[in-house]
Amino acid sequence: MHPNIIEMINDGYFEVDLAGNFTFFNASVCRVLGYSREELMGMNYRNYTDTINAKKVFQAYHQVYATESPITAFNWQVKSRDGSKRHIEGSISLLKDSSGNKTGFLGIVNDVSKRIEMEEKLRFEEKRFRNLVEHASDIIVVVNPEGLIIYENPAVEKVLGYHPEERIGRQGLEIVHPDDAHFLVSSFIALIGDAGTPPIRGEVRLRHKNGTYRTLEVVQSNLVKDDAVEAVILNYRDITERKIAEEALKKSEQRYLELSIMDDLTQLYNSRHFYMQLQKEIERSKRYEQPLTLLLLDLDKFKDFNDTFGHIEGDHVLARLGLVIKRCLRDSDSAYRYGGEEFTVMLPMTTSKEGFVTAERIKDELSREVFTPVPDREIFLTMSVGVAQYRPDEDMKLFVNRADQFMYRAKNEGRNRICCEA
Ligand code: GH3
Ligand code: MG
Ligand code: MG
Repeated sequence: MHPNIIEMINDGYFEVDLAGNFTFFNASVCRVLGYSREELMGMNYRNYTDTINAKKVFQAYHQVYATESPITAFNWQVKSRDGSKRHIEGSISLLKDSSGNKTGFLGIVNDVSKRIEMEEKLRFEEKRFRNLVEHASDIIVVVNPEGLIIYENPAVEKVLGYHPEERIGRQGLEIVHPDDAHFLVSSFIALIGDAGTPPIRGEVRLRHKNGTYRTLEVVQSNLVKDDAVEAVILNYRDITERKIAEEALKKSEQRYLELSIMDDLTQLYNSRHFYMQLQKEIERSKRYEQPLTLLLLDLDKFKDFNDTFGHIEGDHVLARLGLVIKRCLRDSDSAYRYGGEEFTVMLPMTTSKEGFVTAERIKDELSREVFTPVPDREIFLTMSVGVAQYRPDEDMKLFVNRADQFMYRAKNEGRNRICCEA
């Protein structure tokens, strides 16, 4: 090659004698090794390699000398003048003079330090990534476009009981709760269909190996756009315990709410709730111009019952009466323990005439209830009921009062009856 061209190329070009001393080299060699042309001329490779690499180079020269054929893709490390290590890769071949005598070696080499560093960094990153995935507490599942599992990390064993290898090649959907399959399939299709789809979040139940279901938060992302990975990656986090705790909290809140508006003995609503609900129902009745009827029920001669059989037996009666009233009502009706042995029933969208029928039903049901406060005694109880329908713009208290007055009229007229406006 013409020396000028040799100077211009980026590759390192050098010639050494049989002992490995430089006899010719281009600027690139000077640059990589960091020596001046004068310093480098005649320098032996032992001066810029450590013992391991010196041995490598010696063996390479020896092989080329013996076989007379070049070595390609030969790798070794050199020490540049400032002490930094450089990775060199290239070929070494034999030099002969015009009469065919072996005179030395010729090398065409490249500084591949950057590439090697990069590869090492990548290897390190990959190892770090793998460590992360292998030790993550979240389940990571990689699914191919056919929906088959191609990778699962070890977390799957801790959370769902399956060995990471166990489900490779199987359908990812196999262990998904039937009610949650649709969500997973539709988001999977969206992700596969359009590589630009952003990650999709959701909540699914997966079947543990022991047959129970766990609730998991899932993030599905597309890796298909990445040429290297034709897949969808699913990241699952077990939130079963959190769900259970949330559920328990909701239940206790619900229970607390119920406690504050329920009457313990009769399991009907208490009087506080009665006034709140009545206010609401009155508003609704006004707004939609629909009838609203109120029943007020009072047990007859209940004091006598208490005096004869005791308060505890009296309480049993009240609890039973609670059940009787409840089974006579529609879903939209509601019943309240208004006072000691006084009850109210709110009947939305009901006229007093219709309310009268409901009152009759309750009265009849009670008359058929047999109470046995002491063995071999059968007691039947009766009640008096007042029925009033809400009048437009009537004050709430007045409305309740009218029902009360009808109830008292029933008492006065001999009890065990229902009184209503004409
Ligand atoms: P009437 O209504 O027919 O005029 O007669 P009554 O005997 O039922 O009279 P009143 O309604 O005035 O008496 C209410 C009685 O109900 C007084 C009390 O003995 C009884 N009572 C009230 N609250 C409770 C309760 O929580 N438990 C029990 N066991 N008895 C109660
Ligand atoms: Mg009373
Ligand atoms: Mg009474």
